[in-house]
Amino acid sequence: MRKNSWTKLIFVAFILLVMNPLSVQALQNDNNTDNVDHDWMSNEELIQKLNQIEKASSNRVDVDVIGHSHQGREIYAARVGTGDQVLLINGNIHGNEKSGPEALVQMLETLGTSDSTFAQAIRDEVTIVAVPRLNVDGADITQRQNIFSWNDVMNKYPQLNGTTPSWYYSETNGGFDINRDFNPNLSYEPEVADLPGTGADPGFFLTNESRILRNVYLNLKDEFGEVEAFVDLHHMGTPETNKTGEDVTIAIDYPPLGPEDSTKYADWPKLDQDKSKRYALAAALGVKEFSDREEPGVARYLHPEERDLPGQARSSFALNGTATVLFEMPGQQPEYGYDQALIDRVENGLWGIATRMANGSIDQLNGDQFLRLPKYWTERSSDMKILVERFLEEGKIENESAAHSLSIHLMMVNIYEKREEGEKVVKHMRNFKLLLDHQNEEGLIAEDAYNRLHDDADYLIEKW
Ligand SMILES: [Zn+2]
Repeated sequence: MRKNSWTKLIFVAFILLVMNPLSVQALQNDNNTDNVDHDWMSNEELIQKLNQIEKASSNRVDVDVIGHSHQGREIYAARVGTGDQVLLINGNIHGNEKSGPEALVQMLETLGTSDSTFAQAIRDEVTIVAVPRLNVDGADITQRQNIFSWNDVMNKYPQLNGTTPSWYYSETNGGFDINRDFNPNLSYEPEVADLPGTGADPGFFLTNESRILRNVYLNLKDEFGEVEAFVDLHHMGTPETNKTGEDVTIAIDYPPLGPEDSTKYADWPKLDQDKSKRYALAAALGVKEFSDREEPGVARYLHPEERDLPGQARSSFALNGTATVLFEMPGQQPEYGYDQALIDRVENGLWGIATRMANGSIDQLNGDQFLRLPKYWTERSSDMKILVERFLEEGKIENESAAHSLSIHLMMVNIYEKREEGEKVVKHMRNFKLLLDHQNEEGLIAEDAYNRLHDDADYLIEKW
């Protein structure tokens, strides 16, 4: 191409850009993928912020590199406080869930620089160790998994040569869901006979990141005897509560380790689900207490009793005697943009735990009260009955008689659930579905209400 055609082309491009601001933006987005979520801290910004806090804290906050990701990025931890109870907080284990680091930076800033009696009391009574962003490689490209190909796994662990990849490896993304890579046996090393495993099995400590967090945990255990509590910060979808249809603004959970009367974890006598529920309740109370708003969207996170995921960090640590709490914030990145109110909610939940640890009131809470928080999923027919009542109120079910006939079926199912007569539950749920289909054909029920009840009926049929 001759020089003057280049000039002409550049001129045309310039005109297009000036005439059409949209294409300017499109061009910028193409050139700079960070633009998609530029409001959430980059890895560089996070490191800068942590170093600033350490510097401004007059030695109250200690920031350290605790290891490196597979791609060689530094992973940081910050430590503050001199208390003999340890609160370990982990953020961004999923690379596309970025409010954790933001909230932790805010919290560390207060704990590092405030002379208030509030901050001093926490520093005196609790030692807080925060790993704001565990999955630095995933966060860099905003993907759930880390970046660690199966080929690289086999190079690192030659004993795994020729094995099927672990069930939580994503071929598409070339990495692992780090939050399935934990094992309650904290000295576990990958063994070929254990792979690929399932969700109901412990993970294999294949990733640098799970090993780094495990080491932080073990070092604290050495130093303090116990790690009192562990909090893991996440994002999820955007559900609505069953009863009120309110948007869930934070969902909180205790570890998913199957029915409490199961004997599967009999070899782990330190597991204390009630203690985890007390800490989870403290978080929920904190979100409400430290907010100027009413916070009606504080809910429990999805936890039907059969949910059993021992390979999650929180489950593995809970089996070792730590109270563990999960925070799930609505919406993932990059789709869900920066949201200050959401970040503050995470921070407030953490204050709810830290303040109650500091004043010793956390052990006086009633863990069962946690179970009374609003939920957004169906475990039994009574949950579906609550939905029917709300759908009628919202006009999504046309009239009272349609709602009544659905409710009658559900009340019948409820009797059989209580008697544990599975076959009858299934039979009546099938009839319920026929009725639902009929109401749908007659236009008596809105599409979204129909879909929800239909899915929930399938869930119960499957369960029984
Ligand atoms: Zn997550």
